[in-house]
Amino acid sequence: MQTARIDLHLHLDGSLNLKWVYDRAIRYGAISDGTSFEDFYHIVYANNTKDRALSIRKFELMCDVLQYREDLVEATKDLVQTLWQEGMYYAEIRFASQQHTSRGLSQLDALKAVIDGAGDAMDRYPGIRIGIINCLMHKGDGAAANMDENFETIRVTKEMLGKGAVGLDLAGFENNGDFLAYAPLFDEACRLGIPYTIHAGEMGIGEHVLDALSMGADRIGHGVNCVQDQSYLDAVLDSHIPLEVCVSSNVKRDLDYAAHPVRFLIDQGANITINTDNRIFARTNTLNEHALLRMIGVTDEQLSQCTFNAAQAAFCDDETREWLLDRLEEDLRKG
Ligand SMILES: [Zn+2]
Repeated sequence: MQTARIDLHLHLDGSLNLKWVYDRAIRYGAISDGTSFEDFYHIVYANNTKDRALSIRKFELMCDVLQYREDLVEATKDLVQTLWQEGMYYAEIRFASQQHTSRGLSQLDALKAVIDGAGDAMDRYPGIRIGIINCLMHKGDGAAANMDENFETIRVTKEMLGKGAVGLDLAGFENNGDFLAYAPLFDEACRLGIPYTIHAGEMGIGEHVLDALSMGADRIGHGVNCVQDQSYLDAVLDSHIPLEVCVSSNVKRDLDYAAHPVRFLIDQGANITINTDNRIFARTNTLNEHALLRMIGVTDEQLSQCTFNAAQAAFCDDETREWLLDRLEEDLRKG
């Protein structure tokens, strides 16, 4: 049975068509003129590393080519088309509007461009539905460094909530500074009724999962480091908070899928969803993630449960959730 139908954790800037990025990187001077596509490819994957600073530079390169409205629209359309071709029913694509303002766009312009790209693609491919998550950012210098930009991210997300935007996230440099220094942002998101997920316990310590819970997260991005301590794991299990697990993105060059905590977490009864994170850097897609998990002993029934978990955890409206659950039930009946 095809169980790969939903992706709740998917970064636009980590999931572009690499040739498309290359053409624009040349055009906009983000890489030097004489760089061949092969050289560019090696630059991108030479940085495929656990070094956080190099990893952030990769994302900067992707963001360099997403500074104009037409490029944001086109990139989003292309990603949705690819998801549709893979048989996906629903995806939440995330990006950070504050990363796309270096050539004159406002955060609202950037958010509208991505929403419009997703809307155009949904008109063309009616079998798929998309929600957009806007990311608050850790920039590497502590929460105070971009507090104003982060509050603006919340403001524009509220403006577009229910019109394509579905929620917020906190992404970036998880290990930097005091994680709870971001709490005022989530107080504001709560006040405005915006759902949110928080990257926690991915690169950072498992204790961040407790911090994310205390900041009221509706879901946790990754969260797999909760296995570092029984009290963190208990908090995840007791709260039943959905974890957006992205296995290939975590294992990187080690490729040690068997050592990843996903099987343990599923067996413990954690509320697991299966996602891709960054399709380019992890060289994966949702179908591949499900196939790899099957290979390390996760059963079809467990994978199907993960997909139903995702349907329940999606930041969509009730009508979309019912549509989604109906399609998944129909898949189950067909076997
Ligand atoms: Zn992520």
